[in-house]
Amino acid sequence: MEHEQLRETLRNRGLRATPARIRVLGVLLAADRPLSHSEVCERVADGGFDRATVYRNLIDLVDVGLARRGDVGDHVWRFERTDESHEGDHAHFLCTECGTVRCLPASAVRLRGVTRVTEIHVRGVCAACA
Ligand SMILES: [Zn+2]
Ligand SMILES: [Zn+2]
Repeated sequence: MEHEQLRETLRNRGLRATPARIRVLGVLLAADRPLSHSEVCERVADGGFDRATVYRNLIDLVDVGLARRGDVGDHVWRFERTDESHEGDHAHFLCTECGTVRCLPASAVRLRGVTRVTEIHVRGVCAACA
């Protein structure tokens, strides 16, 4: 997404488009999997933002609905975008070796007799670690 579009997106949700917030939102929108606070910090490292600022901005994005925060069972909060190409209620896969979390398609898990699934965590070893 272009810089100007990121600013628009933030303003439409009532947030000030600060340089740190624009970078953090850009990172989440470009990611195809949930990222931990540390992973987001690594990706915006060249901006010189401190970790607390990055964390506050992640929480701000969650508060206005641009991001979702989840714990896949390893007690680490991870953040992912909530746009229409990345809807909620999908399952996540956690690699127990490297800690990478991936999103699984909503169709990956079908449960009989369950109306609404709010969380599914799948654990295993990813291809890179196998
Ligand atoms: Zn792995
Ligand atoms: Zn996901």
